[in-house]
Amino acid sequence: MPHNRRSFDRAKNRFKKTWARVQDGLGRNIVVYLDPVASECPNCYYDKVNRVSSGICKKSPGDPTYFAVGRCPVCRGKGVLTSVRRRCIKGIVIWNPSGSAMNSLTHTDAGFEGATRVEIKTDPCNLELVRDSQYVIIDGIQCKLSNPPILRGIGEQQILIAQFFTVDKPKTDSGEII
Ligand SMILES: [Zn+2]
Repeated sequence: MPHNRRSFDRAKNRFKKTWARVQDGLGRNIVVYLDPVASECPNCYYDKVNRVSSGICKKSPGDPTYFAVGRCPVCRGKGVLTSVRRRCIKGIVIWNPSGSAMNSLTHTDAGFEGATRVEIKTDPCNLELVRDSQYVIIDGIQCKLSNPPILRGIGEQQILIAQFFTVDKPKTDSGEII
């Protein structure tokens, strides 16, 4: 794509507008899911060798979660409790982004066949969250990061741009047996 002065100015103006919208917190909610955190069960001792509950209760008889035999009722014998970590961020969402002056990312389309691409523009403070995400929910659809997120900007103003692809299978398929 040839870069003349006018298209550069247009791109610059477009960037300024986008930046202002990101800064104003406009845009949609994007739910970022991080790796779940595991913590030792408070009710039983953990068997580090077999990575399961030892089956020995930490509590005393009479405690509501006390058990003498069988499976720990708190962790169901796993020995650990996992908690889902998620954060909500604001971002501008662009489904099926097309190549524009501000969007010259290299796409790694291999392996994403049938998936839809989606781009978000958000505050650079979300960099680590986006980079470490297991997956995100955009407009109710599960998506995974396709490229490492990048920072784009003019001078001091920076925007975080991240591209995802949909994980959910498209509902209407041509000739695919369901
Ligand atoms: Zn337990």
